[in-house]
Amino acid sequence: TSFSELGLSGPLLEALDQLKFSKPTPIQIECIPPGIEGRDIVGIAPTGSGKTAAFALPILHYLWDNPQGLFACVLAPTRELAHQIASQFDAFGAAIGVRTTVIIGGDEDRVRQAVMLAKRPHIVVATPGRLLDHLKATKGFNLRSIKFLVLDEADRLLESDFGIAVDEILKALPKERTTYLFSATLTDKVAKLQRANLRNPVRVQV
Ligand code: AMP
Repeated sequence: TSFSELGLSGPLLEALDQLKFSKPTPIQIECIPPGIEGRDIVGIAPTGSGKTAAFALPILHYLWDNPQGLFACVLAPTRELAHQIASQFDAFGAAIGVRTTVIIGGDEDRVRQAVMLAKRPHIVVATPGRLLDHLKATKGFNLRSIKFLVLDEADRLLESDFGIAVDEILKALPKERTTYLFSATLTDKVAKLQRANLRNPVRVQV
């Protein structure tokens, strides 16, 4: 199977070629076609399986046709993972002018982040606590134009205080959207999150 057989188009195929992604991984083979059909997806897959590209590529495929406004929000449980996800969006999307911003907690400067958000990124990759802070406190920032939500490593996203922030963020998102949920394990909490927030999802396990 090749990436073009999965339904991806011109500029993304060129980016994949340049990055030496010659063949899709099993999770990519399972996720990209339903992603391009516009389906919600639940993926049970560990880090290292290629799951980031499995969700980033269908999002970028749609963004290509509709580049207006904040397009996708990706929630990740750690700062390191958020950076890794953003760097893959940058790698695939730079050639088509995709702007990605990372919003994470800790020492990161809130004002600098607010300035980045004001520059109208297409993709926001965030840890939940800090994203919620910006939703509450940063003037002019909202998630109302979001077409895609990704809950990555959802089992870890629901641990500790993050679960509450995730619930609040979900309330601020449009109902009309596509949602991808990825998790290493399908815990009861993850299953509940899935039932409440995904519509007739395709299930993929690798
Ligand atoms: P992930 O599981 O998304 O964290 O990806 C693990 C690593 O595999 C990342 O460094 C990716 O850049 C790389 N990768 C993902 N898919 C492919 C592919 N189809 N071909 C080559 N490398 C890949």
